[in-house]
Parts: sequence; C-alpha cells; structure tokens
Amino acid sequence: MPETSDQRQPLFVRMHPTDNVAIVVNDGGLPAGAVFANGLRLIQAVPQGHKVALQDIAQGNAVRRYNVSIGTVLKDLPAGSWVNEAVLDMPAARSLEALPLATVQAQGLPPLDGYTFEGYRNADGTVGTRNILAITTTVQCVSGVVEFAVTRIKAELLPKYPNVDDVVGLEHTYGCGVAIDAPDAIIPIRTLRNISLNPNFGGEVMVVSLGCEKLQPERLLPPGSFAVRDERSAGNAPADLDVVCLQSDNHVGFMSMIESIMQTAARHLERLNKRQRETVPASALVVGVQCGGSDAFSGVTANPAVGFCTDLLVRAGATVMFSEVTEVRDGIDQLTSRASTPEVAQAMIREMAWYDAYLAKGSADRSANTTPGNKKGGLSNIVEKAMGSIVKSGSAAISGVLSPGESLRGKGISSGLIYAATPASDFVCGTLQLAAGMNLHVFTTGRGTPYGLAECPVIKVATRSDLARRWHDLMDVNAGRIAEGSASIEDVGWELFQLMLDVASGRKKTWAEHWQLHNALVLFNPAPIT
Ligand code: CA
Repeated sequence: MPETSDQRQPLFVRMHPTDNVAIVVNDGGLPAGAVFANGLRLIQAVPQGHKVALQDIAQGNAVRRYNVSIGTVLKDLPAGSWVNEAVLDMPAARSLEALPLATVQAQGLPPLDGYTFEGYRNADGTVGTRNILAITTTVQCVSGVVEFAVTRIKAELLPKYPNVDDVVGLEHTYGCGVAIDAPDAIIPIRTLRNISLNPNFGGEVMVVSLGCEKLQPERLLPPGSFAVRDERSAGNAPADLDVVCLQSDNHVGFMSMIESIMQTAARHLERLNKRQRETVPASALVVGVQCGGSDAFSGVTANPAVGFCTDLLVRAGATVMFSEVTEVRDGIDQLTSRASTPEVAQAMIREMAWYDAYLAKGSADRSANTTPGNKKGGLSNIVEKAMGSIVKSGSAAISGVLSPGESLRGKGISSGLIYAATPASDFVCGTLQLAAGMNLHVFTTGRGTPYGLAECPVIKVATRSDLARRWHDLMDVNAGRIAEGSASIEDVGWELFQLMLDVASGRKKTWAEHWQLHNALVLFNPAPIT
C-alpha cells in the first residue's frame, strides 16, 4: 500500500469511550511534540503500537483499555505520556470463585446460508480440506527412518497418485522414556491418537513402530478407536491396525524397513487417490484460531476481524475453536458469562483451575506469558494481551469445551463456538487443535512469524500494514488496513471468510503451503519423563 500523507498525520486508536489510553498507529511511532487531531500533544516519543495517556492519570489510578483495568500506574502520568510496563502494576488474577455462569444471552446470530466449499467427505461424517497420507509413529526412535521413507515416497510414489496432496510423518518426542501410566499421560496419548484421525487424512491409518516402546501400537490406537476403508466391504469396517514394526524378524537390513513402509504407504495412497472433492456446506469447516507474536494491534485489527469471521462461521453452522489458556485466563469472567449453559461455564473453570495448578507446580506466574516481542509491540502485560486475544472468539455463545487432546468427534460436537483448552505456545496449540479435528487454521500475528503446519492449511493474518508489506509473501491477509482506516473490521472479516472457503477448496494455497513451511508437532506432556 502506498504511503499517504494521512499515514504521517499522528493517529491513535482508542478501543472504548471510557479508556484513558490509546495506542499510536503510525509506522515507526511518533516523536515528542507530535500533536493529534484532538489537540493532545505527546510529551515523549511513543513507539508504534504503544499506549499514550489521553488524560492525566494520578499515581494508583487504573489504566483502562478495552473498558477494562489493565493495571494501576506507579507514578503520576500527565496526558501525552508513554504508558508502558515500567509504570504499570499488574492487577491480581481473577479468582475462579463466584464467576458469572451463562449470565449473558449472547446476541441471537441469524443463520448464514448458501456458502459452500469443495471438500473431501469422510465416512465418519467429517470433511477434509486436503488429501494427505499421514504416517503415525509410536515413538521418536523411528523418526529418522520415517523421514527417509517419506522422502522416497514423495519422489517415487506420490507422482503416481495425483489426487493426493502430500505425505506427512507424524513425528514427535513421545513414546518411550515416559511415565506412560501417570494420569496426565492420557493427554499426549490421546493427542497422537486423535491427530491420526484428523479429517485431512481420510481415515487411512498406518503406523510405524519400533517394537520395544512403551507406547505400543495397540495402546495408541486400540481396536474400535478407528475404522479403515476395506476393499472387501462397501463401507467402513473395523480392521486390524496397519503396522510396520522395525524390530520385526522380517526386516533384514535398513532397506527392507524402507520397502515395508513404502509398500504399506502404496496401499493407502491407492485408496486416498480415489477421494474426490465435492461441494459441501460451509458448516463442514472446523476452524482453529490462535495468535502468536502478538502486539498491541492484535486486539485492534486482526483479532477483531477474526472475531467477526468467527461469528460468520458459527452462523453458517461451522465449528470454531479458540484456545490458549494463559491468554484468556484474565478474561475468564467474560467467557463464563458467555457460556451457553452453566455446565459449559463450569467446564471452562475446571480447565482454568487445572492449568493454574499446572503452572503453580512449576512455580510459573502470570508474567511467564508476554514475551519480549509482545512488550516491544506495546503489550504491557498478560491482562492487556488477554483482552486482545479473546476478541478472536467473536460474540457467539460458547457451546462446548474440550480438554487438551480431546476430539470434537469424540465429544459428539459438530458445530458452534468451542473452547479447546490448550497452552498458548503456538506449536502446542496447533498440535492440540489438529487433534481436536481442525481442518483449517487461522493465525494472527503482529510481530510476524512464518508459522505453518504440514497437516492442515494455515491462513496468517497480519495486524499491521508495515508487517504485511515487509512479509508480503508470508502473510495471507492484511488487517492493518483497519487501523489506517482503509478497511473496516467487517470488510476484513468477510475477506477472511471468502479466503477460507477458497483455501478449504484447494482453489488457493496459503503462503505457508506455497513455501512448504511446516513447524513440527509439539505434544503437551504434563506427565513425568522417566
Ligand atoms: Ca499462540
């Protein structure tokens, strides 16, 4: 976007009429002495995305952003001051006692009909947006062998199956050397199980195992936990797990292992190649939203646009998951009040309490979230970050809750706004949303990250035009236009919605897909390592 004189005019964004701070919009920030249209003069330089006091704020008084106190000031701050973490005292965490439960009737959202995409229908009722052969692994020991095999499958087999998009080894660091019977071990185990059943893999499950690992194939995928298509029956039938065991006596030499994996892969590729895209309603989308590398614009531009789009998706009957416990914890009262039922609110409180205890066990406090980059981008603390993060969830009622690693299908959920409890860590959150059944991922970033997943398309939304310009071949949507006044939240929300349908249909690729940028799966394992 070309520089305009308007962009050099000092501009700020205030989120709510009662806020006593606003954030500086201009690229590169503003110098001392800059005067805004309302006559406010900066008494010191303020970087882009950072807060300026709109009025005098006396020591001990609250700084309000999003109509919420994000802390109290440690000294008198005259109007025009830079308000940053050094002058702010963070408020105490909201207690999980006496929270409002399902008290807000979320606005009735009218249905949104007529939107479709071209997807791959699966026998279990889910729909894929990509057609991928996934090779499940039981243990880290086999990763090198699987990588070797995947390289050969891509070079030698994939060209024979033009309807198959990719081959992905589901590699991870779990499987052995872990306390597999500890109560919390259920989280990594069910995560791996449910990722293997992600809609983009078409129900084709093949496993590479070492042989002596704690996480035996039958423990990872017990009989009945999956069904595979069987040529001998018309539909789905329970089948034996398709396992290549490297320690099997049949294997003599490394190449015999590679041959076994390739022969098994060929059978699954044959079936995957028969999948055809067909027109399905937008309700088949299962979208995971998250943010990473956030800045003060995240909650002003990208996340509100994603929130608007979330409402469109929920209206269309789709499923949208928002996550990131530590980034919504400080807004827990907003979430419990928006729950569709008291039971849903209680489930959210249970997840937050579990996570509070998990963090306490590791002596981590709330300052553990907000990175140096967040602070450089203008986010003073986790309260301010949380308010900007929650906006991604839009305005619909929250109708369900998943614990880490659980799947929507396993809980019988096929629509609505869902809170999927996950850490905020980008890779862990993405991994858990894949396990939940995500077939499309939306990721907002202000500082910039090249994040991507091999298992599902990731649409990246930039919070600032400066980032979108510099990273023009990594960012898919520029929400920075909202701060500049050249597009509305609704404009960008609709643009994102249309792009989702195009990407889900395979008509468009995301930049991460174009460059084949993939982050590794990262399991959430709160259980001990042995
Ligand atoms: Ca994140």
